[in-house]
Amino acid sequence: EGGQDGAAPPSWYRDGVEHVWLPYAQMKTAAPPVPVVRTRGSRITLANGREIVDGVASWWTACHGYNHPHIAAAVARQLETMPHVMLGGMLHEQAARLATRLAAMLPGDLERVFFTDSGSVAVEVAMKMAVQYWINSGVRGRTRFVAFRGGYHGDTTGTMAVCDPDEGMHGLFKGLLPEQIIADLPRDEETTAALDRLLADRADEIAGILVEPLVQGAGGMLFHDPAVLQRLRALADRHGTLLIFDEIFTGFGRTGAMFACQSAGVVPDVLTVSKALTGGTLPLAATVATRRVFDAFWSDDPLKALMHGPTFMGNALACAAANASLDLFEREPRLAQVAAVESALREGLAPCRSLPRVVDVRVRGAIGVVELDRIDDVTDLKARFLDAGVYVRPFGRIVYLTPAFTIPADDLRRLTGAIVKVLAGSR
Ligand code: PLP
Repeated sequence: EGGQDGAAPPSWYRDGVEHVWLPYAQMKTAAPPVPVVRTRGSRITLANGREIVDGVASWWTACHGYNHPHIAAAVARQLETMPHVMLGGMLHEQAARLATRLAAMLPGDLERVFFTDSGSVAVEVAMKMAVQYWINSGVRGRTRFVAFRGGYHGDTTGTMAVCDPDEGMHGLFKGLLPEQIIADLPRDEETTAALDRLLADRADEIAGILVEPLVQGAGGMLFHDPAVLQRLRALADRHGTLLIFDEIFTGFGRTGAMFACQSAGVVPDVLTVSKALTGGTLPLAATVATRRVFDAFWSDDPLKALMHGPTFMGNALACAAANASLDLFEREPRLAQVAAVESALREGLAPCRSLPRVVDVRVRGAIGVVELDRIDDVTDLKARFLDAGVYVRPFGRIVYLTPAFTIPADDLRRLTGAIVKVLAGSR
């Protein structure tokens, strides 16, 4: 099996691999999944005892590395007292503390926190919040969103509709999806004027503008300048619509600032976080609204309540993990570590520039991207990374690294070195 050096996989693997359905995988032709038994720091141990260096941090979540003892202890303590209690009519200390801390950390008056259990659902809630904001404000017909080419916001029905339709992942489901407006980011005068016109023409139907600030992740690791976000804020204000930042990938230091919106000095009306919120340990997400948005729901009318409530929202274990993760951001020099990762990625990936088929190398914060003109055989490429002792998961035309912020310099060199070597064609 992949990365197993011919050793027989354990029986739980042999049985289970016949029953588990994997994400984004053609189950017939994809390489079988790698049997994993342990994680620690930036390392993943396979069933045969082989240790590989992780370049992905489990879809960009494990920002402190795996198994951080401070988070583990907090979750263990919480497990003893109360693993879960519903937020239906109740509130527990971990959710209360986490909401208070998020409100204090986020810029402006982003201060009202709605917890959910995945990024997609946090974006769904942001969209429902925006639509209901207008209804509650007495404005009818504002049910559409402007989202952007290159964007990705999730896999649920509502969020698929605001992803870039040409990225291939969601095109199949077109008939199921509500029609949304996918525009070009306002990168220059022409695209800004086009967006301005669009917002003017369709103001009556637009509930909000939705964007991943600074880095569009799953749509291709595309970067844009902070000025783009300032233009979006100005356009949203001019046309009286809401601005929603999806910081599910960018939040908690990934781009170099704690939140990407801070690099632009822009406060959105609604902001979503997930992924690194719990240091990548437990599923949790949050949709945070400004006072102005929340005020539209504050009423004597029960029908003006936000109509959403996932069973496991604000799970106490997940909130305890998130509080412990925030402790680490407070106590340890995480943003300085991101800056160090950024320099090492710049240096380590620079040799890729001269390799055949490489069209761009870009780095922002703890995100390093090598863009190729095309990838013919992604399965083979993944296998070659595994052979080189690293976990790297290319997609589309890109090979990228989003390591833990705490990754030791040697491990980071192994990752960048493996990318240079594998892309150069040698093993
Ligand atoms: N939004 C962004 C920016 C993401 O990167 C992702 C996941 O990759 C999502 C939303 C969806 O999050 P989840 O996979 O937790 O549903």
